[in-house]
Amino acid sequence: MIRIISDYLRLKHHQAKWDHSKIKKYQLKRIQYLVNYAKRHSPFYKERLDHLALDTLEDFHQFPTLNKAIMMEHFTTLNTCKIELEDVKNYVLLKEKNKDYLGYYQNQYVIGLSSGTSGNKGIYITDRKMTKRLPGVFLARSGLGIKDLPMNILFCLRVFSQGFDDINAPLIKLNYLSTMTPVDDIIHAINTKQINILMAPPSLIRILMPHHEKIIVKLKKIVTYAEVLVEEDKRQFEKAFQTKVIEIYQASEGQIASACSHGNLHINEDMVYVELYDRQGKRIDSPHEIGHKMILTNLVNVAQPLIRYEMNDMIVLGDSCPCGSRFRTLNKILGRNDDLIYFLDENSQKSVVFPDLFSRWIITQSDMIREFQVIQHEIGSIDLFIDSETEACFDGLSSRLHQELKSIGLKGKITLIHRKLELPKDDHKYKRFISTIKKVD
Ligand SMILES: [Zn+2]
Repeated sequence: MIRIISDYLRLKHHQAKWDHSKIKKYQLKRIQYLVNYAKRHSPFYKERLDHLALDTLEDFHQFPTLNKAIMMEHFTTLNTCKIELEDVKNYVLLKEKNKDYLGYYQNQYVIGLSSGTSGNKGIYITDRKMTKRLPGVFLARSGLGIKDLPMNILFCLRVFSQGFDDINAPLIKLNYLSTMTPVDDIIHAINTKQINILMAPPSLIRILMPHHEKIIVKLKKIVTYAEVLVEEDKRQFEKAFQTKVIEIYQASEGQIASACSHGNLHINEDMVYVELYDRQGKRIDSPHEIGHKMILTNLVNVAQPLIRYEMNDMIVLGDSCPCGSRFRTLNKILGRNDDLIYFLDENSQKSVVFPDLFSRWIITQSDMIREFQVIQHEIGSIDLFIDSETEACFDGLSSRLHQELKSIGLKGKITLIHRKLELPKDDHKYKRFISTIKKVD
């Protein structure tokens, strides 16, 4: 309990009080510690980083980058706990088969599994000591705060893991349901367990939305995670459920950003080091520029050091926040690099449309649209699957989309298809945008 409170206070202090130079100083110190630790305990990093100077953050920006494929290829020599890939793979498969997600590997580690967009799974190790400290981190960085206590949370998870079970603490009661639970059962649980905080991926909140009137308890907040929360969805959720909607931006690689008391996302500068680059590879430090490449270093996990790890996410930094925190804000999460869709400009050249913009056109067109999915097989042409009661909204939607494209000088072929869309039954995220085009840029 003391640990939880001290973690909470420490993390809150970092976020509220640190100025720019203090943040940079801390990050350099953490990175130096992490790199030294990795060189001592990981043969992979020893060979890779031993000869490199690390006196400044600029030095660090010259370090080689890592991606999921390299991480998995060198899994055994990269981690600092002497965990063999084959052993841990067998362990994970057995757990999957038995649907038994609790317990620690070798009585010491929580093993996480991520599904890659191209089907390549990533395996992530977290030390038990760290997951035990999650309650403090959760309280300080989930966008939920002291004033939300006591919290009676319903956590809708795609896959359960020991890590979540470790979040339990006095005044924070967690209840779990799988995202595959039927809607009526979820609502029943919310009402009978007197839930006051609902945590779920946006795709699930959207499914619950038409049933909001059946919820008879007062929700203090809805927290979304695991998928990008589109601004338009957020507005609709807030209207329907009559409560504040905030998001946590995390990945298997780290807890990247969380909402402050003003509801704005701030990068967790004391937990991850985030570098952003534009399309030409120039570093981005100012707001409103599109980060085409994001490189992440996890500052807290030494069990499996992720040092300059390339993420697919595209984000845009925001202006400073009225809450006073100097942690960088996120204006937008544009989605993953492979979520982009392409139409044609007047010279028939390909031109990108960001998924958040395209989503907005669809969601705001009609309340009848329950969910949608875009599949692009060739540039300038998409199949748009619509899950709705009837096809009545189709005419309006088709002309709206063409009009919106035209207003930004683009054209393309849009084929509307009526289909019931279901959430994935395994640990994959629901993807609204799927592209089978090989990206060349
Ligand atoms: Zn803020």
